Amino acid sequence: MIRLSQYFLPTVKEDPAEAQIVSHKLMLRAGMIRQASAGIYSWLPLGLRVLKKVEKIVREEQDVAGAQEILMPTIQSAELWKESGRYNGYGKEMLRILDRHQREMLYGPTNEELITDIFRQTLRSYKDLPKILYHIQWKFRDEVRPRFGVMRGREFLMKDSYSFDIDKIRARQSYNRMFVSYLRTFAKLGLRAIPMQADTGPIGGNLSHEFIILAETGESEVFCDKKYLNFDPLAEKLTYENNLEKIVERWTSEYAATDEKHIVAKEKELGSSLLHARGIEVGHIFYFGKKYSKAMGVTIAGPKEEPIIPEMGSYGIGVSRLVGAIIEASHDHAGIIWPDTVSPFSCGILNLRINDQNCCKTCEDLAIKLEKCGHEVLYDDRDETAGNKFAVMDLVGLPWQIVVGPRGLKNGVVELKRRDTGERNELSIDSIIEKLSPKN
Ligand code: ATP
Ligand code: MG
Repeated sequence: MIRLSQYFLPTVKEDPAEAQIVSHKLMLRAGMIRQASAGIYSWLPLGLRVLKKVEKIVREEQDVAGAQEILMPTIQSAELWKESGRYNGYGKEMLRILDRHQREMLYGPTNEELITDIFRQTLRSYKDLPKILYHIQWKFRDEVRPRFGVMRGREFLMKDSYSFDIDKIRARQSYNRMFVSYLRTFAKLGLRAIPMQADTGPIGGNLSHEFIILAETGESEVFCDKKYLNFDPLAEKLTYENNLEKIVERWTSEYAATDEKHIVAKEKELGSSLLHARGIEVGHIFYFGKKYSKAMGVTIAGPKEEPIIPEMGSYGIGVSRLVGAIIEASHDHAGIIWPDTVSPFSCGILNLRINDQNCCKTCEDLAIKLEKCGHEVLYDDRDETAGNKFAVMDLVGLPWQIVVGPRGLKNGVVELKRRDTGERNELSIDSIIEKLSPKN
């Protein structure tokens, strides 16, 4: 159990002037992050707990999809980027660094070159493929307009995967695998992401989807068929034993495109079924064939020793952006409403009378029992008013709140509140444990 009286949780009552959108305001107010410099943030304990939970779900879903985790460095040599031709192409978004020997280095904005180099140094035969490798690492892009907190940072955490296959057909299978893995990942995070046809930008290639969360504050302009609003990933069997192509076909069967890929004629065709909206890009997948493998001279031996240039794809998820995106999708006037899967703690206990022995003992017993059945507990044992305790608990948005006060205890009950519905019930300690125990 974490005692709030000792926890580093610098909450703020008023909306900070520097924040324009609700997720940024709430992240600052809930003491999750502090700005270090433009677009660069420190993560404080509460924020870091959420970031780690998001990261964990992303990792688990990559692992079940068969991707293998590695860790590449943040700092890369310019040499590799000269080989691919992107050193000049990437422009001012790339942070360039000179080391003490005047060697050109850079802080990686993405890792296609580095992973291709690892591949070229290690794999020799078609028997080594397919491979999907990923890492979760900080990236730096010197964005023209860093804004909205962690949504458009300059330094941000990304999960990026890279697939290697011997031909186009298999490369498409890897693409489908990651597509399905993204549907599963975002659903687990409590989000509704719509895959939309997307531009490939400086990564290059010709097949690409962005996964978009609809939100008024989103920076992407998107167009899609309203039918997508009824697509529910949780209601479908998104498993790898199923026909992945079928799943992808279904999820791309209706019109959905980002503004760069939008076909104006579709507006008339779809009529009132067209949704023209704004959204947050939380993931982006690309198939780009031999773009990097060819430029960097990668070949492996085929079944008849013939040289094969591997087909590649890359697949990104904005891990730190997701923390903001989840808040944009789930909050109210009082604060954040965390989905259970990413909440920094699963329940909060509010002690309304810290100098009452019975209240203290009840709270501590309750915390221990809850932890025994897998809960993570934040215990508000501060010398503060009840009003302040309610406000902070609503602000930090834990799914369950348990309010312990002398009046209820006289009747042997405490109050259980569900943050998302606001539903409150007076229950005995035993019934609370029963209700909050995992059901299986
Ligand atoms: P955007 O269009 O938002 O600038 P991008 O298309 O340049 O993003 P990708 O190269 O596709 O980004 O990166 C993969 C993922 O990383 C994106 O889908 C997004 O979720 C995240 N991401 C990209 N840029 C940033 C940023 N500046 N801050 C936070 N997350 C980012
Ligand atoms: Mg993108």
